[in-house]
Amino acid sequence: MKPIELSFEFFPPKTQEGVDKLRASRAQLAKLSPKFVSVTFGAGGSTQQGTLDTVLEMQKEGFEAAPHLSCIGSSKDSLRAILGAYREHGIRHIVALRGDLPSGMGEVGELRYASELVSFIRAEHGDWFNIEVAAYPEYHPQARSPKSDLDNFVRKVQAGANSAITQYFYNGDAYFRFVDEARKQGVDVPIVPGVMPITNFTQLMRFSEMCGAEVPKWIARRLESYGDDREAIRAFGLDVVTNLCRRLVDEGAPGLHFYTLNGAAATKTICERLNLKSV
Ligand code: FAD
Repeated sequence: MKPIELSFEFFPPKTQEGVDKLRASRAQLAKLSPKFVSVTFGAGGSTQQGTLDTVLEMQKEGFEAAPHLSCIGSSKDSLRAILGAYREHGIRHIVALRGDLPSGMGEVGELRYASELVSFIRAEHGDWFNIEVAAYPEYHPQARSPKSDLDNFVRKVQAGANSAITQYFYNGDAYFRFVDEARKQGVDVPIVPGVMPITNFTQLMRFSEMCGAEVPKWIARRLESYGDDREAIRAFGLDVVTNLCRRLVDEGAPGLHFYTLNGAAATKTICERLNLKSV
């Protein structure tokens, strides 16, 4: 097996059925020995307890589990309380984000950008946390320009991030170019590609529209042409994403971070096809 750092992202389930599904997925993915697993956090704290509960359950099972934390819409006091709880539970790994407020809702909060959250965590907790931040090879949808987005990414790393995970993409060139440009600006932390397996055309287009990831036309048109044929979508999606991951690994990506959406099948198949196992 090719040794590489694998990590898997989950979201906190809202129903017992969701909890059971996530447990089953985790059991499958545990066989790939991920370096860590992470659990998303709803902006404004909407999943605060669910994120912590899910992380603690995974911790008990022996995973290194990293909660995400977003600062938008939150006061410093509420972030302080969440960080304190994470620390009390022995959590040492965190994904620090700005997050997105639902449109037209609520106040921005005391910290406007992820770089400010990273500085806040370092000021309050020194080196206790291993901090991941987000990176955008195709640029963040609200960025004023590619250059300002890269500068803002560099700022997050300078504020104290240990490594970065990218938004998903299907164009490997965008990733390698972004890494090169970040290196030229002095960024030396790992920039791990985020990988979104393709299993559902409508959902993929909706997510991509929201987060600014590009689904290349040839992929979108092929997926669309399969209509309700879920098996064809699955098979084509596996081929596309396996090829992307092969290139990423062969050309030096330091790891792969899978957006599992709490399912195991696609992630597991891709890793098995490439003979990947975490170091
Ligand atoms: P930032 O780094 O703060 O950037 C946001 C925007 O502001 C960018 O356009 C940037 O260029 C700009 N900017 C940054 N600093 C400055 C500055 N000083 N001046 C002017 N402009 C600036 N969302 C959730 O709600 N929960 C999650 O759990 C979650 N997990 C994620 C995990 C990963 C790996 C990724 C890639 C994204 C995740 N997201 C999550 C989505 C993320 O919150 C959104 O993409 C959000 O819009 C930006 O967050 P950020 O941390 O990248 O923000």
